[in-house]
Amino acid sequence: MVRIVGVIGSYPTAVEHLAGLSTPTCDLWVKRDDQTHPGYGGNKVRKLEHLVAEAQRRGARRIVTIGAAGSHHVLATTLHAGRAGLGVAAILMHQPWSAHAAANLRAGLALGLEAHPASGMADLLRVLARIRREGDWVVPPGGSNIVGTCGYVDGARELAAQIRAGACPEPEVIVVALGSGGTAAGLLAGVVAEGLATRVLAVRIVGKALAGGARTTALAIAAARRSGLDAGSIAIARRLEVDGSWLGRGYGWPTQSGDEATARAGEAGLALDPTYTAKTFAAALALVERGAARRVLYWHTLSSAPLEPLLAGAPSEAELPPELARLFVREAPRLPPPPQML
Ligand SMILES: *Cc1c(COP(=O)(O)O)cnc(C)c1O
Repeated sequence: MVRIVGVIGSYPTAVEHLAGLSTPTCDLWVKRDDQTHPGYGGNKVRKLEHLVAEAQRRGARRIVTIGAAGSHHVLATTLHAGRAGLGVAAILMHQPWSAHAAANLRAGLALGLEAHPASGMADLLRVLARIRREGDWVVPPGGSNIVGTCGYVDGARELAAQIRAGACPEPEVIVVALGSGGTAAGLLAGVVAEGLATRVLAVRIVGKALAGGARTTALAIAAARRSGLDAGSIAIARRLEVDGSWLGRGYGWPTQSGDEATARAGEAGLALDPTYTAKTFAAALALVERGAARRVLYWHTLSSAPLEPLLAGAPSEAELPPELARLFVREAPRLPPPPQML
């Protein structure tokens, strides 16, 4: 197959059969988007192909974006948009502490990220108003505007080409994490436009208010249109299923099923993170075990490039500016009190 080299990443990414985790009635496959770039891969690279090109088309000098303190999107943008000559500033929100999340922020700072903490939604708008200047292009969390989402329309089209070339069978279901939604939305638009019968199971890893079926479907329809594809909106809506049952306490808090899925993925040679991929892979394993489909494709979205090279010269955790260190929450939120018995 032709090796397509994007401006930033290298494509196609491999599709692999996870024989050890398949059953006689269900084959589990993986799409290795962890390997979109050797320096820093994962799902944000495909979005950045479009985001960086659009920033340049607009004559922007800086991308201003938003994310959790240890956001992969912020790190990926700092690295890849930075290499394209764009400045990157991010407004960062609190999230549960993990060594992985803290390392993402440390690496971003080492690469020149301008980080601005915000204490909540209202503060975010105040910070944005304060830092914004001429030549900025504001990109939403996760890079999931219509432009970024087109990167995953490309991803689905790449998979369709791999299916046609015999690299893997057509999956009945693609299982993918649902955060800001661009990944699931782009895949959804792309599989419908390519004439695949594949359904998309989007595993919600943020609260209901931040991601849902309606938003994802709307984004898919808009991205299909921008990509010049013919994908009917009703067909798109019918192909999506959102599963919120793996979230646990909320964004970034680990779950037991996620930890178990991480151990099983490790045996198959895949490294997962607690926030996104552990919960999503747990959902994929449950589908396989229930025999709910014959061919399941888990779309791997976490970079598997080693972070150490990006941490050269980075501040240690103890050296983080206190206003940034404070963004990492160490205590789980209190569960709501039990209802009063009157
Ligand atoms: C950002 C991210 C996601 C979620 O993708 P969205 O397009 O924001 O829904 C999933 N997995 C990983 C590892 C991510 O960094």
